Amino acid sequence: MKLLNIGSVAFDSIITPFGKISKTLGGSASYFSLAASYFTSPSVIGVVGEDFGGMEILKKRKIDVSGIQKQKGKTFHWAGKYHFDLNTRDTLKTELGVFADFKPQLNDTQQSAEYIFLGNIHPSLQLDVLKQIKKPKLVGLDTMNLWIETALNDLKKVIAQVNIFVINDSEARELSKEHNIYKAAKKILEMMGATSPLIPLLKRRGKTLIIKRGEYGLLMFSTPSPSEGRTGLPAEALAKKVERLQIFHLPGLPLEEVKDPTGAGDSFAGGMFGYLCKNSSKHTLTLADYKKACIYGSAMASFCIEDFGTKRLHNIKQSEINNRVKQFKQLSSL
Ligand code: AMP
Repeated sequence: MKLLNIGSVAFDSIITPFGKISKTLGGSASYFSLAASYFTSPSVIGVVGEDFGGMEILKKRKIDVSGIQKQKGKTFHWAGKYHFDLNTRDTLKTELGVFADFKPQLNDTQQSAEYIFLGNIHPSLQLDVLKQIKKPKLVGLDTMNLWIETALNDLKKVIAQVNIFVINDSEARELSKEHNIYKAAKKILEMMGATSPLIPLLKRRGKTLIIKRGEYGLLMFSTPSPSEGRTGLPAEALAKKVERLQIFHLPGLPLEEVKDPTGAGDSFAGGMFGYLCKNSSKHTLTLADYKKACIYGSAMASFCIEDFGTKRLHNIKQSEINNRVKQFKQLSSL
């Protein structure tokens, strides 16, 4: 097993200006694993109730669902309504159902996973999973405003242990208490331990923060890992290099057909992490790989929003992905 993902597996009821859908397959792990399945074979850790009927959709994409427990009770149900600009939404319902008593228990194979993505779910569950992983190589994280407001201590504990943190701009401002996005990014990278004097310089791993800006794209801030900066520089110069921020901007692709932005963030993370996972076996990941991963992630998110729920992610041709990636590259090249 290469990629392990924990997150919600849910029923979603969604209203957008272009229509509505009731109790369709949703949840952060469903979107993430469907998007990642075009690059690698992800395994999902989660829980559903007896009423859940979406397993076949995940299995068809060769997603390993053996870590999804089926328990007595109801599946997590989320309902949301989007405003006209689709960048803002109101949550109408969050019914935890079987999630309320969920205790993730990983088996031996799952504990040996090297690539872990902690999808949006209560940070204490994310910590529970992370503690059980024997030798993580690359750990990614997503969260939401609810956890910033209600579980900040646990959230900060997770943030300090991950390599890649994906968050949207309003959450980044809320978490850092900074309006300026550059200052917000620096503060969050500090929370991630990118500049911690407690971690010896050569033991620091590269830290990457991706701030999503809805239809306007994303900003990636990263501190190079010491191995990337291994240039024979004296410690002081290396310290400066490690602390220097590298910034990458990717615009959003203007699309003619947008119906439902639910799960765009999770699909981005699935495409991005899936791409990194696929390419990590070939060579040590570089900043260029991270940039490409952002493009593949954004391509998967762009498919996701073209239809309601997870529908568009069920069957995408490789040629469609390649074309979308090409469009992203053309968007800002001279
Ligand atoms: P996104 O549009 O990327 O924010 O993700 C939407 C997905 O997040 C939906 O499919 C919901 O089922 C899921 N979701 C919403 N609220 C929560 C929550 N509190 N915990 C876990 N998943 C959630």
